[in-house]
Amino acid sequence: MPTEGEFQAQLALLRRNFVEQLPKRLAELQDMLQRWLNSEKTTDLATAHRLAHNFTGSGATYGLPNLSQVARELEQALKAHVLTNMPPTHADINLLRQQLAAVAQEIARAQSMQSDSAAAESKPVTLKELTGKTPNRLLYLLDDDDELREPLILQIEHFGYTVKGFASTQALRAAVQEQLPALIIANVMLPEGEVAGITLVLDLQKIMPDLPPVIFISSSAEFKTRLSAVRAGGQAYFTKPLRIEAVVDAIDALMSPRKIEDPFRVLVVDDVPEQAQYHALLLRRVGMKTRVVSDSMAVMDALTDFSPELILMDMHMPDCSGMELTKVIRQQPGYMGVPIVFLSAETDRDLQLEAMRLGGDDFLTKSITDEDMMTVVSIRAARYRMIRALMVRDSLTGLLNHSTLMERLRSEMGRSIRHGHPLSFAMIDIDHFKNVNDTYGHAMGDRVIKSLARLLQERLRSVDIVGRYGGEEIAVIMPDTPVESAVKVMDQLRQCFAAIEHHTQDQAFFSTFSCGVAALPPVIGLSVLVDQADQRMYVAKHGGRNRVVGPEQGNIQQGVGVQ
Ligand code: GH3
Ligand code: MG
Ligand code: MG
Repeated sequence: MPTEGEFQAQLALLRRNFVEQLPKRLAELQDMLQRWLNSEKTTDLATAHRLAHNFTGSGATYGLPNLSQVARELEQALKAHVLTNMPPTHADINLLRQQLAAVAQEIARAQSMQSDSAAAESKPVTLKELTGKTPNRLLYLLDDDDELREPLILQIEHFGYTVKGFASTQALRAAVQEQLPALIIANVMLPEGEVAGITLVLDLQKIMPDLPPVIFISSSAEFKTRLSAVRAGGQAYFTKPLRIEAVVDAIDALMSPRKIEDPFRVLVVDDVPEQAQYHALLLRRVGMKTRVVSDSMAVMDALTDFSPELILMDMHMPDCSGMELTKVIRQQPGYMGVPIVFLSAETDRDLQLEAMRLGGDDFLTKSITDEDMMTVVSIRAARYRMIRALMVRDSLTGLLNHSTLMERLRSEMGRSIRHGHPLSFAMIDIDHFKNVNDTYGHAMGDRVIKSLARLLQERLRSVDIVGRYGGEEIAVIMPDTPVESAVKVMDQLRQCFAAIEHHTQDQAFFSTFSCGVAALPPVIGLSVLVDQADQRMYVAKHGGRNRVVGPEQGNIQQGVGVQ
């Protein structure tokens, strides 16, 4: 997200470019009007109308309301000619000349204002350094019992956290004062006292108002202890023996508000690049990710490449109108639901309604305030993301469901073939999972699937795509990843998963998975890729399970008979 200083600097730059280009734009409009007066061709008139319309919109966008106003008068006069299709009379031509002169005058004014303000702010804008923030994943664990503390640290670290252990309140106190962790897990009863953990937290809060969230662990389930833990600001309370999955769930939940949410992706379509850039800059200012398209023909590629969560669409463009573009987008099943918000200088209510009828979700006029525009965009994008999550995610694991996973695989394969980049696909199947269900119950089985899903999501890159392929089968798409690297990554994950202890009320057990990895090049067809990964996963099963099989081992053993 740009800092305030960067934002102001970028905005000033855009505005300057825009004003600098105005005379060139005006010359184009003058030429086109002249051409029309000479030729009386309707296409020339239509182009002149569009150019005038662009002034109306850009003027409003860049805070030049007077320019916008005089341009609108010219635009409306031209529109009247478009509608009647009558050759202009002398009076018409005179009026147009006057209107054009008014536009030219406003442009001259904007330019002199610009040079004044440039002189006034001759000192350079200092851009604040971007603070390279990485999320803090450091946890402190206080427990005097070595036999519990050390394994617990290892367990939690499998989920991507860094955990430092402390055996005494004194050691923890010193560490907190030196470096604040993102979360503290404290045992209640310690050699220092029956509720020494709670007392310590209360003490620390007095001297450090920004103490991170605290989770208490305790061998006591007594209400009184729980209550004092809550009063000390404890966010969660777990009794021993600890269920590690539950503890990690709580850690995840407490850390998630601090987790940086994926920014909304907004596609801005406008044939006037400065307009598109301006709106994109505003949206980036509030943390969104933007892609700008000024050529309507490039919209389809942007849809597949960028998969926007909202499209901010201009209405009038030279090659095809925003309404036509909306129709084309809506005809593709994958994009039927993506919100399309028109942002246009168009004030004709009938046209606005027509745009909505064709699949637009909202209509904003370019005179809308920046704040209102950003609000509309973020509310609609957030809603779309939520609804889409319900449609595309599996409810147990939160991973992509089967059909969405396959849809993503198809588009990622297309992209990797287009760019000539490798792509790996891994198929994972939990070993002897029937036994888990039979021995510990179906609910426990569900928890094992969930812990695998979470491990993959935590540990893989954000560009990797993880989906639930079937019951206890999970698949991973790794774009831009050659097969050897994919095998390596999956093997690390295999080791991590095998080391996670799963707890029932009174027992603990481990679980493993087998994995097959296939990649392109050379495979091309989607089903060939999936089959190959699946076959290699079975090679892993027959090779003894708890292993990852890539092309090398896969090919050698593929001929081996399997029952
Ligand atoms: P292996 O893959 O190592 O050959 O043995 P397996 O025992 O895992 O083999 P199989 O694929 O035959 O069994 C999978 C079992 O997973 C069968 C099914 O009841 C169970 N299962 C599938 N989906 C779920 C689920 O969502 N939750 C739970 N708890 N169990 C599931
Ligand atoms: Mg299976
Ligand atoms: Mg299995």
